[in-house]
Amino acid sequence: MWFRTSAILNNAMLYLKSLNIPRLLNLLKLVCGFILSRIVGKPLCIAHPFALSVEPSGHCQLKCPECPTGAAVLSRKKGNMNIDLFNKIINETEKYIIYLNLYFQGEPLLHPQIEEFIEKAKKNRIYTTISTNAQLLDQQMCRKLIASGLSRIVISLDGFSQGIYETYRRGGKVETVKNGIIMLIQARKESGTFFPIIVVQVLAFDHNKHEIPAIREWCKEVGVDKLEIKTAQMNEFGDGTVQPAREKSRYQNSPKKKYTVPGRPYNHCWRQWSSAVITWNGLMVPCCYDKNAEYILGNASSSTFSDNIKKPESYIFKQTILSNRKGIEMCRNCPEGRNWFWG
Ligand code: SF4
Repeated sequence: MWFRTSAILNNAMLYLKSLNIPRLLNLLKLVCGFILSRIVGKPLCIAHPFALSVEPSGHCQLKCPECPTGAAVLSRKKGNMNIDLFNKIINETEKYIIYLNLYFQGEPLLHPQIEEFIEKAKKNRIYTTISTNAQLLDQQMCRKLIASGLSRIVISLDGFSQGIYETYRRGGKVETVKNGIIMLIQARKESGTFFPIIVVQVLAFDHNKHEIPAIREWCKEVGVDKLEIKTAQMNEFGDGTVQPAREKSRYQNSPKKKYTVPGRPYNHCWRQWSSAVITWNGLMVPCCYDKNAEYILGNASSSTFSDNIKKPESYIFKQTILSNRKGIEMCRNCPEGRNWFWG
């Protein structure tokens, strides 16, 4: 990882702007509810999540082999979120929400009204993040994102040369990504703002790790705010053509193509209290690991956000996490709630 100190300060300022008394009180109640739930072993939902992930679009133009969208293994339908549904979600949550991820599965810049989503969140003083493959990051898009008030953008750059980049980002052009980053930095300079904070993210694989030093140097040279080196989330549906870089991997060595996370999973999950994930068509799911919406806890189109988090489905899911997390298949190999807090 590498970052500019000024960007960290600017980022902190953006977070501070999203805080107010009702949101802080909600956060305090949320932490108390989570701690008490762990002590008594029953879910106490006395507050609302403070973070939200909303999926503007379920479509993507690339074919990344370890992504369920790119590998075409999702059975749920694809589409774009209706702006009225998005406005409904924000109107119902703005009292509590501090942080909004405008992505889940799919490429958010494929939504034709993405800047209206950001503007709506910005008007409600919510910190917004987009994670993108940057294939649509042209001059016009850069200006739209800056004008809409986006707080942070995470741009995937998984290689420095085209051959290495497209080993994972199949169908993508590395020069488009680099040019997009340069244009965004330039447009931000011209507009006299310090946002969005520009983060370049590299998924470290065996095939691209030798290009990471070149990416780091380039990021410093062009004025990127932060470089994050991450381990890829590996899946059994992957075609085996890419392997995580061992030094950076979240997985322990395994003889077969079976990826297991080290450490004991405790019977808790802070994400179940702190955040909610909503698909493009309004399905509320437990977390970003439920990519195919297998555990539907509510529906943002037909119910209010407050009603959804109180639904029996949501309660039962939290109860299972507290009593037998291993009983939920997707939670068994999830890095959340391992070796932190007390267990
Ligand atoms: S998969 Fe992980 S983050 Fe999601 S609910 Fe299970 S333990 Fe929590």
